[in-house]
Amino acid sequence: MKFNTKTIHGGQIEDSSFGAVMTPIYQTSTYVQSTPGGHKGYQYSRSQNPTRSALERALASIENGNYGIAFGSGIAAIDAVLKLLKPGDEVISTNDLYGGSYRLFTKIYEKFGIKFHFISMENISNIEAYINKNSKLIWVETPTNPLLNIIDIKAAADIANKHNVLLAVDNTFATPYLQNPLDLGAHIVMHSATKYLGGHSDLVMGALVVKDENLADDLYFIQNASGAISGPQDCFLALRGIKTLHVRMQRHCENGKAVAEYLANHPKIEKVYWPGFENHQNHEIAREQMKDFGGMVSFVTKGNNYEEAIKIVENLKVFTLAESLGGVESLAGHPASMTHASIPKIEREKTGIVDALIRLSVGIEDKDDLIADLQQAIG
Ligand SMILES: *Cc1c(COP(=O)(O)O)cnc(C)c1O
Repeated sequence: MKFNTKTIHGGQIEDSSFGAVMTPIYQTSTYVQSTPGGHKGYQYSRSQNPTRSALERALASIENGNYGIAFGSGIAAIDAVLKLLKPGDEVISTNDLYGGSYRLFTKIYEKFGIKFHFISMENISNIEAYINKNSKLIWVETPTNPLLNIIDIKAAADIANKHNVLLAVDNTFATPYLQNPLDLGAHIVMHSATKYLGGHSDLVMGALVVKDENLADDLYFIQNASGAISGPQDCFLALRGIKTLHVRMQRHCENGKAVAEYLANHPKIEKVYWPGFENHQNHEIAREQMKDFGGMVSFVTKGNNYEEAIKIVENLKVFTLAESLGGVESLAGHPASMTHASIPKIEREKTGIVDALIRLSVGIEDKDDLIADLQQAIG
């Protein structure tokens, strides 16, 4: 099956009760047993729920994995990966990463004796210097948030495999439409399904997809034992969202390109971050591992003025000033005061998240309206 068919049919099975074409929302906590243990595969909805199972099969299908595991949020999915580790273990992570991931790593898991190295991975050989006998996990986000750096997944997988370390890739920004980390050698792919997979800004959800059965068993165990599951209603919404992922992504990419090119030619703009530019540091890797360049674009105005950046995001009318990304509607954010406020200013600026940085999640509206909106807001 090709991707555009998988988004609609992947992992879906016919409803045996009434022939419903869409997976029903099984809003139930428990299931009848004819005799103790005599059930139809479902006993209690923390452990399994048929709506969640349908979503988990869909996730596995679109990411070319064998097992999907759905969680109550993207962060809960990351949390489950970290629960594979034990005190003394070490993680090597990208330094330009989602603020909430950084917070989870440093504020929760460091306390439990796990050591994190936050490093630049644009040059992938940097990883090797941090590998030692305690290394257990490499955490990669690509494209990174919010600076759209590109990390070579295949090269990271080669290093991970050479040293017997797990490689997990946060594929939230790219989605399986643009890149498939498992095909490139990653062991775990992670999603905030809140973003493009759901696609309509109406749910919060996370997902993991793996190929390996033992790894899947460990993660299903954690999913049930820790209990950060997603409810059936949200699973239904995510399933529905996934069915249009390919058409939405095509338009996100088209509009993202138009907006990035408009900004790059604007006299008041200092720098535009978008992996589709030929002068982007890792443009060649992006071309190789991604099908297109996505709908995320970040930019900095000349003079790097905090107040001016705030004024621009306040003036936008079609773009909504809000956290999050990946919905059909265009959103604008100011990382320094919003998504990345939990990262100390010194750390933030080291990686380029300066005061005037604005991040756009370019939606699927008409691109002329988006560009006109930017024009009136920037001046
Ligand atoms: C939003 C996001 C997360 C966290 O997901 P939630 O669903 O908000 O918990 C993780 N990684 C990236 C790249 C994100 O954008």
